[in-house]
Amino acid sequence: MTLTVAGSINIDHVIRLPQFPRPGETLTGRDYRIVPGGKGANQAVAAARAGATTRLVACVGEDALAGSLVAGFAADGIDTAAIDTVAGVNTGVALIQVNDNGENTIALAAGANGELTPARLERHAAALNCEQLLLQLEIPLDTNLAAARAAKTQGARVVLNPAPARPLPDELLALVDLITPNETEAEQLAGVAVNDDAGAAAAAEVLHAKGIDTVIITLGARGVWLSERGQGRRVPGFSVQAVDTTAAGDTFNGALVAALQQGLPLAQAVHFAQAAAAISVTRPGAQTSVPFRAEIEALLE
Ligand code: ADP
Repeated sequence: MTLTVAGSINIDHVIRLPQFPRPGETLTGRDYRIVPGGKGANQAVAAARAGATTRLVACVGEDALAGSLVAGFAADGIDTAAIDTVAGVNTGVALIQVNDNGENTIALAAGANGELTPARLERHAAALNCEQLLLQLEIPLDTNLAAARAAKTQGARVVLNPAPARPLPDELLALVDLITPNETEAEQLAGVAVNDDAGAAAAAEVLHAKGIDTVIITLGARGVWLSERGQGRRVPGFSVQAVDTTAAGDTFNGALVAALQQGLPLAQAVHFAQAAAAISVTRPGAQTSVPFRAEIEALLE
């Protein structure tokens, strides 16, 4: 039994600049890199590096970089048998700008991620027989719904990182056991402003009322709001010097499910995941910033 991640694979094109260009402005960046990314892939890599047996259900295009991306996942120990190569499309792309405050802006083209349809998912039905299913929102919503339904029917814990922010049908939320929005995503889903702990508590209650047992709202450098029905509290994160917050949430999610997979109680799993995410913000890039288990344990000592 394993963890299955169904989600996106992207190639991130990252430019670092002093500040973001305004509309119509051209700014020369300091450095440009091509980095493996995509929320599904990032979270699968984070889970695998944190020690979980991990499968990734996803699609890439027929471009030159796709093969090296998939080889990279295999090198991280991820089962890649359910990664399809789709003819006639490109692998998903993210154009990322990172400024001197470590903030980012991201423009996405879904490419092959849009080809992970419910019909294609059916071909990988065996992968949904898992202990935990981890989903995000960079693949078609119908596919997430079908995956959640199939995994839940077979007794899996369904974990949804509802990113990027968008409205979601109650039908999907009712299948979710654990949801991990950031502040913006929690506001969008709950219709409640999340500017402080009281706002986080109110948003968590709205999500509990939709049928979700555990709500974790990630609050950037402030840590997380951890809420189990009727009981919420803020858990501070680790104090580090942030250089690039790309994939902080992805690292948190992958490490969280890996810790739960290993049987850690929720509070300890959150602590482990916050340590992993804190390390990731001290390094540039998406998958390039994701720590390995030994590094996370060293921070926890
Ligand atoms: P997202 O990247 O999805 O917006 P957050 O910014 O909320 O997610 O970050 C996810 C988690 O990463 C946080 O809950 C926290 O544990 C960790 N984290 C993010 N930014 C920092 C930071 N500047 N310092 C320490 N930990 C951070």
